[in-house]
Amino acid sequence: MQFSSTLPGTPSAAADDAARHGRLSVAELLDHLNHALVVLDEQGFVVGHNDAAHRLLELPQTVLAEGALIDDVVRWQIRRGDLRGDADAIVQRVWHHLRTTQTEAHPHVYTYTTASGRTLQGSTIALPGGGWVRVYTDISKHAQALAALRESEARFRSLTELSADWYWEWDAECRYTRLEGRTVEEHDLARHFLGKRPWDVFSPNRPQPRDWAPLQDLIAQRRVFRGWEIQRILPDGQSVWFSLSGMPIMDEHGHCTGYRGVGRNITPRKEAEATVQRLAFYDSLTGLYNRRAFQDQLRKAQAAADRSGQWGALYFIDLDNFKDVNDAYGHKLGDALLRDCAKRLQTILRDEDSVGRLWGDEFVVLLENLGDSQSGALWNAQMIAEKIRAELERPSIHDGQEVQVTPSIGITLFQGSHEAVEEILQRADLAMYQSKAAGRNAIRFFDPDMQAKVMERATLQHELRHGLREQEFALHGQVIVNGGGRIQGLEALIRWRHPKRGMVSPAAFIPLAEQSGLIVPMGQWILEQACRTLARWSSDPERSHWTLAVNLSARQLRQPDLVDTVLRVIDASGCDPKKLKLELTESQLLHDVEDTIKKMEALSARGIRFALDDFGTGYSSLAYLKRLPLSQLKIDRTFVRDLLDDPNDAAIAQTILQLADSLGLDVVAEGVETAAQFEALYAMGCRLFQGYHFGRPAPLDPADPASVH
Ligand code: C2E
Ligand code: MG
Ligand code: MG
Repeated sequence: MQFSSTLPGTPSAAADDAARHGRLSVAELLDHLNHALVVLDEQGFVVGHNDAAHRLLELPQTVLAEGALIDDVVRWQIRRGDLRGDADAIVQRVWHHLRTTQTEAHPHVYTYTTASGRTLQGSTIALPGGGWVRVYTDISKHAQALAALRESEARFRSLTELSADWYWEWDAECRYTRLEGRTVEEHDLARHFLGKRPWDVFSPNRPQPRDWAPLQDLIAQRRVFRGWEIQRILPDGQSVWFSLSGMPIMDEHGHCTGYRGVGRNITPRKEAEATVQRLAFYDSLTGLYNRRAFQDQLRKAQAAADRSGQWGALYFIDLDNFKDVNDAYGHKLGDALLRDCAKRLQTILRDEDSVGRLWGDEFVVLLENLGDSQSGALWNAQMIAEKIRAELERPSIHDGQEVQVTPSIGITLFQGSHEAVEEILQRADLAMYQSKAAGRNAIRFFDPDMQAKVMERATLQHELRHGLREQEFALHGQVIVNGGGRIQGLEALIRWRHPKRGMVSPAAFIPLAEQSGLIVPMGQWILEQACRTLARWSSDPERSHWTLAVNLSARQLRQPDLVDTVLRVIDASGCDPKKLKLELTESQLLHDVEDTIKKMEALSARGIRFALDDFGTGYSSLAYLKRLPLSQLKIDRTFVRDLLDDPNDAAIAQTILQLADSLGLDVVAEGVETAAQFEALYAMGCRLFQGYHFGRPAPLDPADPASVH
């Protein structure tokens, strides 16, 4: 130790005592310090230093000797490379430093790294009596740690800068507190997310709060989560997919203070997945479902049919002469033709129908919800097949070339999932071959029975249209009498005098006319006949008080121009509208009650009256029965038939009579075939009757020799 005991600023005598007590002198203590101490007098001469000064500053005895000038020590250090820069400037800086230290309360601290790699932190303390103590601390380890930290920070930064991943932190409430990385900047994510929780920002793939529950559960358990996928819509409308992975941040007490992790833009991957999906499920030529996807659709349709009880239909469509077209004009045109067919199919079918291409020129179509009756579904399927056939048959122009192909269509119906998908496809395929065998450009149902039924209906419909044109229809009438047997009026009932089949019952053709829409022109004809009859009766004193009831079908009732049509027919005939009665059935009223009421009111304002037909078989709600401008209820003939044997039916008839009475309505009992039925009904209070007992339906036309009226 090279301090003299007279040095200014030496520790106090008390401290010296204490140190001695620990068997160490102050000087010895200073030598053991890990800090280098160099004492300078006010001229800058070294007046002392401890042992550590040699060790830490690595200065030989000759340089750091008592009496050495600080300038020389510094210049030596410069020469060795401990201090770098212009020697004079450094010396000047040292002196500036020493002088300013005198006036400052806090020692000025500086750091430098010697040629040997030691990082020293130096500071200067001004001594009260003049001179300075320069203190050096080896902070190499700390500096290394700091450098390592800086390097790791830089590494982290370049990672987030260069990669598509970004770094994020949440606070304990899962609000974003930090977002860093190139993607963050590119999409300005910080602005949109900082301060918000992930579920505070709308995500199309997780629209409901419950969609976030799995993530929230993991967070609640302080668990690590990986690959949590979120779709976001950026302010510019761009859709991006992010994947978040995170782990909890724990403080020294083991408390979770938030989460940190990385985010990744997985949009390209998601898009690739969508492409793969497209390739896997869609036909690349036409964009229609491929075989696999179509089978899936069929499976789904079967499951849905299980629930709904609705019939569905599968169509197998093969183009008849596609191969010829392909051979004649080349594949390019062939492909264009197939694309065109696909487009046509999609255009004429509903969005919910499925269209697929199995391969080549084989298309498949799946229709659902064709109705809950097999016959209705058959009919619908046939109509749609006709539409498809007509559409595909239309010539198209490709490369200035007009091309025409015709389809052979095979159809099979299905209901529910009791059959295998392959089986259904095979049935449609077989039916398609049947239509090929039938000469192509044809439609065939798989089941021969079905086929017969469809053919029958198709023929009937054709004949119906023909019959209407050829006036094969006649209007008959059946009397409605009062208790005394006096005729009050008639019900008009249509008859078809078929040239080959003879008299065809309306029960056989009215539903068909309904389905095909033919009922509208037919209904108009019936109404015209009825009104003409009424006009004729008006000049006949025996019949002028008779009413004539006309049955209105559901489809007629739904015609928007019903009111106008009826009034026009009445006006043209010159009949008294009060003598016209329109019969509606209960089930008809179930559709759009408000619209029905409006039409009925408009007509009854002109004096036309309404009867509710087949009463008791439907689901009439008293609530709207009251609101309808009705004047009559007709007890369905099924109740009359068993009236005398079935007390239940008698009770129903009785109830209807009471109900009608309370509503101020007349009641007609339909289908009265015997005197006993008549008497029973009369006893119950019924005053109007219709049935074979009083007269069978007979032609209304007086010119007809069969007419009785
Ligand atoms: P509806 O309106 O209930 O007609 C009464 C049906 O009962 C008529 O059958 C009639 O012939 C029959 N009938 C009458 N008295 C008796 C009887 O004592 N015993 C039995 N068993 N039957 C009797 P029709 O003429 O075969 O008509 C059947 C249904 O076809 C009618 O039922 C009606 O819903 C419909 N319909 C008939 N003509 C027309 C029409 O011009 N237009 C419309 N839209 N539907 C009509
Ligand atoms: Mg009727
Ligand atoms: Mg009836």
